[in-house]
Amino acid sequence: MWGSRGVAHILCASALGLIEASNSQCNWVMNYRNEARLRLDAAKNELTSGDDARLKYAALELRMSMEALTYDRALAFKDEFPPAEYQTWQPKKVMLVLLEIHPSADADRALAIGGPAEEGVPASIMHSLGTERVLNMRALKKHYDALGSYLHLPSMKQTIEGRTVDSAKLRKRCEELAALIDDVLSSRIFNVTLGVFSTMNCFRCERPIRKRVQDEQEAVAECFDCHATYSLVPVENGQIEWHPKGRDVACPREGCAGRIFVWEADQQVGKHWECNTCGGRNALVLAVHQEAASPSGQVAE
Ligand SMILES: [Zn+2]
Ligand SMILES: [Zn+2]
Repeated sequence: MWGSRGVAHILCASALGLIEASNSQCNWVMNYRNEARLRLDAAKNELTSGDDARLKYAALELRMSMEALTYDRALAFKDEFPPAEYQTWQPKKVMLVLLEIHPSADADRALAIGGPAEEGVPASIMHSLGTERVLNMRALKKHYDALGSYLHLPSMKQTIEGRTVDSAKLRKRCEELAALIDDVLSSRIFNVTLGVFSTMNCFRCERPIRKRVQDEQEAVAECFDCHATYSLVPVENGQIEWHPKGRDVACPREGCAGRIFVWEADQQVGKHWECNTCGGRNALVLAVHQEAASPSGQVAE
C-alpha cells in the first residue's frame, strides 16, 4: 500500500481568519492571533496606568495572550493535531502535543528564496522573506504558571508567613513578557510549517490521512475519524509504504476457515464480530493459559 509523498507546505493560518477545519467536530475557529494582539494591548493599558493594584489584570491578559498564540500555533498543524486534544487548554500541554508532531514546532525560523543558476545547485543569491519569532516552550514554562500565582489570594500559609505580592517583581515580569509577545506578533511571517508529508485514504473509513515523515524514519499514523493506525515505512525512491496495524485473527470454531483483520484500536476485551464464514459470534476475551511446569514441578510465578 503506497501513500503519495507531499511537498513542502506553508500555512499562514491566522491570516485566513475563518479557517476551514480539518474535521467535522470543529467548523469554526477564533482568529487567535488577533485575539493575542487585543489581549496584549489590554495588558499594556494596565501596565501604563502605573497602578500596582491593576498589575493582576495585566498578568491575566498576558496569560490569555500566551494561550491565544499557542492555539494559533496549533492551527498551523491542524491536519496533524489530534481532535481529542482540542479540549486541552493549558498552553504547555498544547505545545507538548505540537512538539510531538514536530520537534522544532516552537523554533524561530527565517525564510529565504533564490533562483538556482543551474539545476541541482543551490542559489548563490537568496532573498529574505522574513523571520518568524515563536512563543516557545521555554517562555511558556518561564512565565505562564508564574503569572498565574498572582491571580489568586495569598494562601493561608503565605499569609501566616507574612509573604506579600512583590509588585516591582511582577511589573518587571509583565513588561518582559509583553515585549516578547510584541516581538512574536511583529513577525513578518508566521505559522510556517515546512515538511514532507505522506497522504493516504484510510482503508477503513476512507478519510484522508496526512502524516509528516522525517529523515526516512518509520512513523505511526492514526486516522482521527475511525482511529485505525498504520506503520509508515520508507522504502526505495522516497516512497512510503502504509501498513495497517492490527492482526489477522482466525475463527475459533473447529473446522471454520473464517478469518478477520482486527485493527489495533479494536483489540479490546468485549469487542465482537460475526464470523463471515460460519456466522458465529466471536468475541475478544481475557484468557489464562497455564504454562508447562518447571523441572522442579512447580509453576513459575
Ligand atoms: Zn479511518
Ligand atoms: Zn467461523
